[in-house]
Amino acid sequence: MTVPSLLPRQDARTQRDRLEVLTVLINGPEFDPVLRGGVLKIPPSHPVYPWNCTVPDCARSRWRRYAMCSVHADQWQEAEAGGMTRTQFLRGAEPLAAWEAPEEMMCRICPQRPAFSLRLAVCFRHRNRWLSHLKRHPGADEDDGEFERWLADQQPCPGYGECRAEVCDELAASPLGLCGAHERGYIRAGRPGGARLPKNFFATFERHELPVPISCDDQIAFRAWCRAQLPVHRTGQIYLRGLRPLLRAEFQWGMYVHGLQPTAVWNLTWVQSLADECQRRDVASLAGLDPSVFHRDYHQRMVSEMQEALRKVYFSPGDTRDAGYIETEHFGVRFPHRSSYVDLTCVLSAYYLTSPTAYG
Ligand SMILES: [Zn+2]
Ligand SMILES: [Zn+2]
Ligand SMILES: [Zn+2]
Repeated sequence: MTVPSLLPRQDARTQRDRLEVLTVLINGPEFDPVLRGGVLKIPPSHPVYPWNCTVPDCARSRWRRYAMCSVHADQWQEAEAGGMTRTQFLRGAEPLAAWEAPEEMMCRICPQRPAFSLRLAVCFRHRNRWLSHLKRHPGADEDDGEFERWLADQQPCPGYGECRAEVCDELAASPLGLCGAHERGYIRAGRPGGARLPKNFFATFERHELPVPISCDDQIAFRAWCRAQLPVHRTGQIYLRGLRPLLRAEFQWGMYVHGLQPTAVWNLTWVQSLADECQRRDVASLAGLDPSVFHRDYHQRMVSEMQEALRKVYFSPGDTRDAGYIETEHFGVRFPHRSSYVDLTCVLSAYYLTSPTAYG
């Protein structure tokens, strides 16, 4: 499905200039380093975008609109109904252990292969080898040290490289070249392009250290599917990789500026879903975009706030007066020496003059 582009036409030059200004700002010393890069890894207790449960030492992440994990949010609602204060509840609540691996787990034998069995922490191939070992040694048990002895004999296998889904940051889980989540999604989608592995590829190829041939009915359709995928979401991470470069920078700057005066909470899941929505609609820039194209009001509010932050960057004071904050094709900031030196004094002073908290 193609969604018509929502872009007001901005010439390539304007976009390039704007990206250049934002890049300088994002690489500047005041900028929050956590918000740089294609995958933002937000620490659990980040001052602006926290996602940890507020019960001290609880290792679980927040649930829906609560500042607590689902178990504690539930207990808190009951405690509150019974007349307990929040402070009393937080002091008395028992912290819980994490229940999902926040990072991708690797095979403990193969450094380049993701774990298939999270319990054993081994890849698909080693899981199968362990199962056949158990078959050959009836009575052998994981717990009596047999697993440790078996582990010591195992050789690592080479990895399958990065997942072919363009935005994906994970390692491929099989010779098909997709991570576990994208491979499941590919099968669910009915294998567009018909990419598949030979039957028994372990026994026929991998065991003999041979490369596994992939057959594909339609390479172009398979590649198009890989390009169209959204990232696998992980708690505490924001994937901006699939966004066009200018839009990515606009998100980063927008998130940073929001943190200078956070009057409303921006849940990380909202930020991610807005990024996904922009990617689906092939948005190149938030400038001039009508926020009402988004159906959710939190998306609309976030877009308006980011646009406000961008206006202060995109228009220098003189142009701002002339343009009266009306979106215009004209880009006012001048660069005396383009690639080597960018004079941002006017942009920065315009920005910091209107944001007194920017000084901390
Ligand atoms: Zn909790
Ligand atoms: Zn392995
Ligand atoms: Zn993937």
